[in-house]
Amino acid sequence: MSNAYQATLEWARAQDAADPLRAFRDEFLIPPHDGRASHYFCGNSLGLQPRAVREALTAELDDWGALAVEGHFKGRQPWLDYHEYVRDDLAELVGALPSEVVAMNTLGVNLHLMMVSFYRPTPDRHAILIEAGAFPTDRYAVESQIRFHGFSPTLSLIELEPDEPNGTLSMGAIERALAEHGERIALVLLPGVQYRTGQAFDLKAITGLAHRQGCTVGFDLAHAVGNLPLRLHDSGADFAVWCSYKYLNSGPGAVAGAFVHDRHARTEHLPRFAGWWGHDKQSRFRMGPEFVPTPGADGWQISNPPILSLAPLRVSLQIFHRAGMARLREKSLRLTGYLEWLVQTQLADVLESVTPRETERRGSQLSLRVLGGRERGRALFEYLMEHGVVGDWREPDVIRISPAPLYNRFEDCVGFAEAVRAWAHRPA
Ligand SMILES: *Cc1c(COP(=O)(O)O)cnc(C)c1O
Repeated sequence: MSNAYQATLEWARAQDAADPLRAFRDEFLIPPHDGRASHYFCGNSLGLQPRAVREALTAELDDWGALAVEGHFKGRQPWLDYHEYVRDDLAELVGALPSEVVAMNTLGVNLHLMMVSFYRPTPDRHAILIEAGAFPTDRYAVESQIRFHGFSPTLSLIELEPDEPNGTLSMGAIERALAEHGERIALVLLPGVQYRTGQAFDLKAITGLAHRQGCTVGFDLAHAVGNLPLRLHDSGADFAVWCSYKYLNSGPGAVAGAFVHDRHARTEHLPRFAGWWGHDKQSRFRMGPEFVPTPGADGWQISNPPILSLAPLRVSLQIFHRAGMARLREKSLRLTGYLEWLVQTQLADVLESVTPRETERRGSQLSLRVLGGRERGRALFEYLMEHGVVGDWREPDVIRISPAPLYNRFEDCVGFAEAVRAWAHRPA
């Protein structure tokens, strides 16, 4: 495969025709626009619906209708163990042992539950380190946890300011912050991929640095899971959380995920907020008064699993299993590389990417700053949306565009570039 990109539709179509993953696009519903498929670049916000989801949901509705309570045992996929059906594919996707992952709740809830166990502040060590400009939920969650333990965010929240020109963070800055404040940091909580800049972080390097300072480490993988190949077990992180409606295509409000490193699998002394589904599976239905946690991530479950939310996740993870994260990443590198090349060579008078250029420091998303300020940016964004090019807007002047290798094409990137050019050259 040649890396010499060309800006023409013919060239893009030839790439799509030669793409070994091209058949996966047909497994998704692509939202239409004016009688053709839209150029959908918003899979980092809400992934597209796999066609097979409808049938999977209908099967559960049918079992509910025909079997009611007996569906727990006699359904085609008995509901009792339903969360276990996604476990192997989920573990494969994030590079974990099957016992280290669980699908449950939603991202923000899982973040809180993980902090209940892994943010254990003491008078000497009570701070949480996050990046400045973190996603609101993450900041709110961290602040509220600090207050919950009777500490004050003024003293206990450390927000790492970007040290690179486009608002990204160098490893050097993380290293310096840990060297300077490490002794008072209880928890380091960073993203796998930062939602605003698209910067990807080196989870293993960060974990190594933080553990050397005695800090616990958690990652929010909302924008990393299904986007980058992950090796969570080897990273050594204590925990991680993610949602499933972005790159994982499991539908709005889909059931989220959590990772708890194997070294914590049997630490029964860790405080946790418990519920019956986290109880040891063998004796759960004796309904005894004493909580005995299931070893591993399953032990953090509270409620019985949401079948109608797990069914789409299951379909989606099977797609990832068949496509393979390594092959998806290979395509993603070329596709996002092409988009970046188009921006640099064809659109440099309109847009500039603030996402790191080094491919190991980004996933599929490019965050494109519109030159000339917010008003101009909003006008371009609205024009794109009206013309079937779907991205999203982040204040004050960034359009996020994320080609997802499961369903986006080189042709979509050309469609984006043509729409931007048409806007820039429109008659006044
Ligand atoms: C999308 C996203 C969330 C959303 O949390 P929900 O609990 O799923 O609503 C939180 N944090 C980050 C970093 C995100 O990207």
